[in-house]
Amino acid sequence: MKFAIQSRRDAQSNELMELARNYLQDFGLTYDEDMPEVVISIGGDGTLLHAFHRYSHLLDQVAFVGIHTGHLGFYADWKPSELEKLVLSIAKKDFNVVEYPLLEIQVEHHNAESNTYLALNEATVKSPDVTLVIDVELNGNLFERFRGDGLCISTPSGSTAYNKALGGAILHPTLAAIQLTEIASINNRVFRTVGSPLILPAHHHCVLRPVNGQNFHMTVDHLKVSQGDVKSIAFNVADEKVRFARFRPFPFWERVHESFIANE
Ligand code: NAP
Repeated sequence: MKFAIQSRRDAQSNELMELARNYLQDFGLTYDEDMPEVVISIGGDGTLLHAFHRYSHLLDQVAFVGIHTGHLGFYADWKPSELEKLVLSIAKKDFNVVEYPLLEIQVEHHNAESNTYLALNEATVKSPDVTLVIDVELNGNLFERFRGDGLCISTPSGSTAYNKALGGAILHPTLAAIQLTEIASINNRVFRTVGSPLILPAHHHCVLRPVNGQNFHMTVDHLKVSQGDVKSIAFNVADEKVRFARFRPFPFWERVHESFIANE
């Protein structure tokens, strides 16, 4: 089996990377950064986002696994002390693969080819001006004219990240859905938005259409993908999925408890 390792590049993560690489090579596995079947991310959830985007062209063949060298993560849920156990399981191919849905973003331009992105956590749309003014269309019908700081559209596994800070719901990561949350909407007697997060199933879609300007500050996970000359931005549950190698059960709600509630 071929593997690659993505490190957060701090001293501890780099040390673990060297250890993992040597162990796996001792078991006869091949280090291959171009065509890996297993990608080990060492750092935090942010490191796994980098690994995801590095290998997003190989999603149907790669299984990701994350070791956290900081706090427990949602994607990075192995402890450094479990490295040997993890290496043994990878070497024996003793793992299951779970698949989580992703967000597809399609940006249509007036005078250029469209751009398509995949997000593991979320995409955000903000305006270079003070207030974002944009029409929100759901399944082809105008739903609302949004005014405010911006909009965040997240995946189920990204619902514990920026989406949660915006008051969005935590979704179980196996649900095929996307969630739209507002970033500081303007709500008064003149301007209105729904004010609640919306969760759309896989067969629904959301399109944003510019009202005034056509330039937007967009993010896709940790990446800035600012866009000019925008005609529309469409969001759907992607056809592609991300695959995670699961070596032992760690129920999602236990991870939510450990991350946000448990008092160590
Ligand atoms: P980053 O430092 O890589 O991430 C910011 C924080 O979000 C880190 O603590 C990271 O955990 C955590 N995180 C990432 N994915 C998560 C997930 N699925 N569930 C729970 N926590 C998660 O920052 P960045 O490079 O600018 O952007 C990456 C992500 O930051 C974005 O995708 C966005 O979700 C998040 N973000 C959050 C806020 C907010 O909460 N107010 C604002 C902007 C961006 P680790 O420490 O384990 O890496």
